Amino acid sequence: MPPAGIPEPDLHGIAFLARVLCGTAFALVHRPDAPLRGPAPPDLSASDAAALAALVADVRETPVVVPDLARHPRTAELSAVHGRAALRFYAGIPLPGSGGRRLGTLLVLDAAPRRGGLTGEQAAGLVTLANQGIRERDILHHLSGMKTERDDLRSITEAAPALIAALDRDEICRFANGNFSRWFGLDPDETVGRSLRAIVGEAFYDARRPLLARAFAGETVSFESPHPKADGRHALVRYEPHRGADRAVADLYLLGVDITAEKDARAALADSALKFRAIAESMPQMVWSTLPDGYHDYYNTRWYEFTGMPEGSTDGEGWNAIFHPGEQEEAWRRWRRSLSTGEPYEIEYRLRRHDGVYRWVLGRAVPIHDPESGAIERWFGTCTDIDDQVRARETLARGREELEAQVAERTAALAEANARLKAEIEERARIEEALHQAQKMEAVGQLTGGIAHDFNNLLTGIVGSLDLMQTRINEGRTQNLTRYAGLAMASAQRAAALTHRLLAFARRQPLEARATDVNRLVSSMDELLRRTLGERVRLEVVVAGGLWLTLCDPNQLENAILNLAINARDAMPDGGRLTIETANAHLDDAYVASEIGVRAGQYVCVCVSDTGAGMSPEVIQRAFDPFFTTKPIGQGTGLGLSMIYGFAKQSDGHVRIYSEVAEGTAVKLYLPRHSGRAVDEPVRATGMPVPRAEHGETVLVVEDDATVRALIGETLTDLGYRVIEAPDGPAGLRILEAPGRIDLVVTDVGLPGLNGRRMIDEALAARPDLRVLFITGYAENAAFGNGHLAPGMRMITKPFAIDAFAAKVRAMIEPGPS
Ligand code: ADP
Ligand code: MG
Repeated sequence: MPPAGIPEPDLHGIAFLARVLCGTAFALVHRPDAPLRGPAPPDLSASDAAALAALVADVRETPVVVPDLARHPRTAELSAVHGRAALRFYAGIPLPGSGGRRLGTLLVLDAAPRRGGLTGEQAAGLVTLANQGIRERDILHHLSGMKTERDDLRSITEAAPALIAALDRDEICRFANGNFSRWFGLDPDETVGRSLRAIVGEAFYDARRPLLARAFAGETVSFESPHPKADGRHALVRYEPHRGADRAVADLYLLGVDITAEKDARAALADSALKFRAIAESMPQMVWSTLPDGYHDYYNTRWYEFTGMPEGSTDGEGWNAIFHPGEQEEAWRRWRRSLSTGEPYEIEYRLRRHDGVYRWVLGRAVPIHDPESGAIERWFGTCTDIDDQVRARETLARGREELEAQVAERTAALAEANARLKAEIEERARIEEALHQAQKMEAVGQLTGGIAHDFNNLLTGIVGSLDLMQTRINEGRTQNLTRYAGLAMASAQRAAALTHRLLAFARRQPLEARATDVNRLVSSMDELLRRTLGERVRLEVVVAGGLWLTLCDPNQLENAILNLAINARDAMPDGGRLTIETANAHLDDAYVASEIGVRAGQYVCVCVSDTGAGMSPEVIQRAFDPFFTTKPIGQGTGLGLSMIYGFAKQSDGHVRIYSEVAEGTAVKLYLPRHSGRAVDEPVRATGMPVPRAEHGETVLVVEDDATVRALIGETLTDLGYRVIEAPDGPAGLRILEAPGRIDLVVTDVGLPGLNGRRMIDEALAARPDLRVLFITGYAENAAFGNGHLAPGMRMITKPFAIDAFAAKVRAMIEPGPS
């Protein structure tokens, strides 16, 4: 089939011409699958027509002639032959088509056989006709094809993103597409028929002339050209010579592509690449870059300086060999993961320096994405030398570990030392406790030994005297009885003094502090001291004039002076001098600062000094210790100085020893000054007449010990007092709460049920002016605090001499000067 729009050759006309030429009744053109054309027999069937056409081969230069179809074996049976149409003569010739194919068959038919066939002219005429048909058709077809081609070409050139034009030898534009015309700011109509010189302008044309000449000489010329108006646009241009049939260049095709955008992009790219390189080179780090697949194609100078590798040798995967084998695998693993996921790459690894030393490096890389597609365009990476940091970090970590270890070690050592110390302290405490116990046992041994000795001596005196008295009484010899009684009494009083000393040492001695004139007290002791010291020791008493009064227990002071005198005597076995001095003293801050527990202020000082053996510093240091003695057992108790110390402290005073070995000793006793008046009272009652009751005064005696109660009661009765006795506190209280005269209560402190002190407290409600004499053993001292009593109340300590007791009672019942 001819292409659509191309006219068919006139097959009908050809068939008519053939019938005229051959003088037959019929002629037709047969083509498979097409209606017959021309004046054909009216009843010719399609199959008969095909059979008749088949008599002709495809290519023939002369017609096939069958003079009588009835005699031809391939046609005799056809209905067109022996049927009503009764066709007999036949001539056929193929109609050639394009490409050697047969377009159809031209048949000439007649009812009468024709023995002579066709004439030569008829045969040649048919051939011409057949070929004529095809030529016409070919021409038609060709023309139509040319038009299509031209239209196609036009469309293509218009659609092409290119500038297309054709110049003839005179440089006149024969053809130009829209792009070409528009490039020069012209209409396509204006371009065609114009000279190139007119289109591009004089100056521009002059510049192109050599290129045009080369192209017209047969050379394809390519070049990049700015727009003639220098408006920033650029084209890539090609002059393509086109040769005619004579092989000479007939035309020039002008082909151009607008490359402005590419050029700009290229320039931008070149610019950014330039910048990148500038930055990369200026960085202190090693910088590298790879293609999207990880192919390393760039390293900055820093990299080559560090690695010492020749330029280009680490491209691709060459870098991996410079990594420390310890990190190679991991670096690869991470790099591959980043390449596949696009995640940034970061790793610390050791990189071999040019000198073979591995240094720690921080490797980092990030991908650069195409802004439109998002695909990774490149990877940019850096390597930073962090060796110093890593080592510092390691040192730090090591340092910390070491420090921790050291601390742990120290802590353990400390804990161990602590445990050891604790154990030592415990051991020490145990030893001290044991020592203490041993010392206590030794002290108790010494004490009991000394006391037993003293008591035995005293008891010997008492018992011996009583024995003598009894013997004399039995014999009826009553002379000298008073002397023996006196001896017994003296021994008993010494025994009492001994217990006092014990109590004073225990500081449980109840004190009866009162304003005391020390000068008077010392003077009153003169006789006693002389007797105690014996003849070999000279006594000197130096009393100060204007001596202040002091507040203390005079009995204790007397006791203390006596003890000091005895010590002095003991230190002077071969005799010497004992001096007792009194003086006013002021202890200032400087003195006080060097002594513990002493208050600055005014004191009365009693100094007892001797010319005896003296004390070594060690003995001085221990002399006040209870039981410390340098004397043999039975001679010293070690309680004398201890008692004096206790007395001084209890009186808010102070005592100090000054001594030199072989020179002598001075003991200074300081007692606080008293600003009030001295109480005039007999210090010792011994030898004085016992005062008697005069006005029937009543004394209540509360005492649980029946013997003591009876003794006291008898003594008081003997003295002329009326006596009421009570065995315990509640009984005593009942009597006190009942009406009746009671001038004085003599009560033991240690009473069962209600102690003496509390009994009196309760009784005071009914009898506020009650006078009371307390009898105390040392244990009850606590009931009186530090020993200061309310007015009208006094105290006497067991054991006591009856005359002293009587004197006290008398003084209380009838106060005032005696
Ligand atoms: P004791 O007299 O029973 O030994 P003291 O407490 O009175 O106990 O005295 C303790 C010790 O102090 C004495 O044993 C003696 O060594 C020493 N001492 C006391 N007074 C003197 C003194 N005047 N001269 C030398 N030594 C003394
Ligand atoms: Mg002594």
